[in-house]
Amino acid sequence: RASAVTSQLAALIRDVADFPQPGVTFRDVTPLLADARGFAHCIDALAEPWLAQGVQAVCGIEARGFIFGAALAQKLGAGFVPLRKPGKLPPPVLSIDYQLEYGRDQLEIRDDALQPGERVLLVDDVLATGGTLAAAWALVQRFDAVPVGACVVVELTALQGRLRWQSREPLHSLLRY
Ligand code: AMP
Repeated sequence: RASAVTSQLAALIRDVADFPQPGVTFRDVTPLLADARGFAHCIDALAEPWLAQGVQAVCGIEARGFIFGAALAQKLGAGFVPLRKPGKLPPPVLSIDYQLEYGRDQLEIRDDALQPGERVLLVDDVLATGGTLAAAWALVQRFDAVPVGACVVVELTALQGRLRWQSREPLHSLLRY
């Protein structure tokens, strides 16, 4: 049953060659979001490993991590905290600078968004090189929150992003390419 759901979800992800730049295959999750049953199954499957983990805050990464993360937070009975691209959140914020494949980027979080000891789950749509998720993790740790783990819908295994996940906590992916 798990693999039937997985192949149903995989069929709803559109591969777009050479976007946003030559050589990159973009994994477009918007057909999955538009499919009521597919989206519901996706959230159920994302939530499943964390149902008994007492997650209190789901941190979603801008932008598609907001969509999966908000639905997941509802499913888990947790709050939702956005990790945003620079300049979007009003001050005061904490920010972290990190390396991308080409260039640099930043993530920001409200400086009072998490409490010490709060049980936090990170969410994004795609794990590629892992830089984004590693930076998100480092940002969350500044609050002395309790890491529970992370989850993504798609893991691009060839890029070995999992190696940058320094946490001992689990990193779950629904679909691996
Ligand atoms: P990375 O930091 O390299 O793991 O990149 C992850 C971030 O970039 C995620 O927020 C993804 O939404 C986005 N991303 C990277 N590569 C892709 C891809 N091939 N298709 C869709 N999104 C991607």
